[in-house]
Amino acid sequence: MKNHQIVLAARPEGEPRPDHFRIVESDLPKPADGQVLVKTLWLSLDPYMRGRMSAAKSYARPVEIGDVMVGHTVGEVVESRSAALKAGDAVAGYWGWQEYALADGKQLTKVDASKAPLSAAIGVLGMPGMTAYTGLLTIGQPKAGETVVVAAASGPVGSVVGQIAKIKGCRAVGIAGGADKCRYLIEELGFDAAIDRRAPDLREQLKQACPKGIDVYFENVGGEVFDAVLPLLNDFARVPVCGIIAHYNDTELPPGPDKTPRLLRAILSKRLTMRGFIVWDFADQADAFRRDVAQWLKEGKIKYREDIVEGLEAAPAAFIGMLKGKNFGKLIVRVAR
Ligand code: NDP
Repeated sequence: MKNHQIVLAARPEGEPRPDHFRIVESDLPKPADGQVLVKTLWLSLDPYMRGRMSAAKSYARPVEIGDVMVGHTVGEVVESRSAALKAGDAVAGYWGWQEYALADGKQLTKVDASKAPLSAAIGVLGMPGMTAYTGLLTIGQPKAGETVVVAAASGPVGSVVGQIAKIKGCRAVGIAGGADKCRYLIEELGFDAAIDRRAPDLREQLKQACPKGIDVYFENVGGEVFDAVLPLLNDFARVPVCGIIAHYNDTELPPGPDKTPRLLRAILSKRLTMRGFIVWDFADQADAFRRDVAQWLKEGKIKYREDIVEGLEAAPAAFIGMLKGKNFGKLIVRVAR
């Protein structure tokens, strides 16, 4: 039996390419005391991984050249030397882009497959769902009757932001890439309006979709979407700054005038609250998140969609595609059945 791992082969400047990754074959490792050998079933692909490929200083350590790419995973214990787990247990963890891994039994979370499909543990009931829940409720503070806008709205973070906004009695406006995603937001998820981020009249459409202005803008993308949102923000609007995916491949500042004074003037005169966050800042809300979102899933108030690619070797191309919006729903790799 052989293991296959995807390692970082080189650091990208700008867009990542397939040759920035390398697949490596090795013998299956044996667990030491306290460890388990896990077989990966599902691997989550997430935008933050672009940051880990870079050596630039950030909130988390970069992946070193030659190291296995990081990532949230769900799998099955095949051999256990941990008192906490036995062979056959389904577990979630953070062992990255590989078919098998050794893990400390204490660092894995058991997953109950009878409550939700295993893959939900890396999506709606995992890190992306918790990002939406904590960022929107803690920083966004949405109140009934207010307007909440979110981009990358059909993805695992944005879709949950919009649906929680609806649960809280808000008007939910989504921005997404293309007609299919926009239709899905309205027809399947119950958003009040959806706008194609590439529409030439994005600003005008957004204005029409938000007749009372914007009270909460959940920032996932930056770029042109932020430029369209800024003039529509109401006094005392809240902006949880979650991600700026439109800039992850930037190698220099965008051309054009310096927009900083305009942004600062808006923050001052409209008394805006903009707060960046990393989901783990709100680790103490994990139980509340799991309880509420599991309940909303059961009641059909939250729905989710997965974009599944088959086989570990498909991960690099799928990841590169996600940074351009090619995924439709939570992007996950089925590493094994
Ligand atoms: P998604 O599955 O939604 O994938 C990313 C989406 O971003 C793409 O599908 C695309 O959607 C959109 N996108 C890509 N390029 C651009 C662009 N140039 N301009 C506008 N939109 C673009 O991702 P997630 O839901 O997992 O993550 C959403 C955001 O949340 C990301 O910025 C991510 O980094 C951030 N995040 C932050 C966390 C935190 O702790 N702060 C934790 C988790 C995620 P479309 O084509 O529909 O526009």
